[in-house]
Amino acid sequence: MMHFIAKQSRFRNPLLIVAVVLLIVGGSIALTRAQQPQQPQYTPQQVEEVRKKAMEMGLLRPANEAPKKEPTVITPGAKPGDPPSDAIILFDGKDLSGWKSLRDGGNAKWLVQDGYMQVTRTGDIATKQEFGDCQLHIEWATPAEVKGESQGRGNSGVFLMGRYEVQVLDSYQNPTYFHGQAASVYKQHAPLVNASRKPGEWQTYDIIFTAPVFDEIGNVTRRARVTVFHNGVLVQNNVEIYGETWHDRAPAYIPHGPTGPIKLQDHGNPMRFRNIWVRKL
Ligand code: MG
Repeated sequence: MMHFIAKQSRFRNPLLIVAVVLLIVGGSIALTRAQQPQQPQYTPQQVEEVRKKAMEMGLLRPANEAPKKEPTVITPGAKPGDPPSDAIILFDGKDLSGWKSLRDGGNAKWLVQDGYMQVTRTGDIATKQEFGDCQLHIEWATPAEVKGESQGRGNSGVFLMGRYEVQVLDSYQNPTYFHGQAASVYKQHAPLVNASRKPGEWQTYDIIFTAPVFDEIGNVTRRARVTVFHNGVLVQNNVEIYGETWHDRAPAYIPHGPTGPIKLQDHGNPMRFRNIWVRKL
């Protein structure tokens, strides 16, 4: 008899445990569900009314309205980095005819040789043409011989509209402040990662820039935005630019027109650039 009871209690206990566990699990699931906000329930008529109102306000397009204009047919570059057929070539390695010196307004005086241009301590240069929203491709190399440190090593910059700097720097094992390293929006946004190649190696930026918009009294009504790929790696993901990228002041917007030149910085280092092209957006 004792033997039978012992057997039965061994059998009962696990059953009890399972029942308790089920109760706890079931109870907590029910509790979690009860805590979740309930989706409001709308009748189909209510949904239709909201949709119609949004249409009247110009907030919606009919779901079945197809675009009426065929996208322009272009020829892409033969390989990544090559200019597509609708690009404006800013520098093809031969001459600086599309650039001017910002020091004296005359011809750009940087050295051109072997398919690249090189900073010669003659001041910043800028494109003669001006751009607003654009896609820019530019290749650059810092000096193979490493000199200086931090902001003093391989410094230049690509300034959209002549004002908003995507930093160019030798950031290969060269610590500096994070929002001042290569591919930063200078003193505003550090890059998402450091995708730098070694000194002397060619690197690429692919930049998508949306120009700021100002109202009639000069207030910025839409800040500029920028996306940057450094050597094919996304490093700035449509970030907002807070204003001009000064090194010694907080950023602020100074009203300007809808277009501006692309400026390259002479920061005293013999930086090289090649294969520069832009597409207006
Ligand atoms: Mg710079």
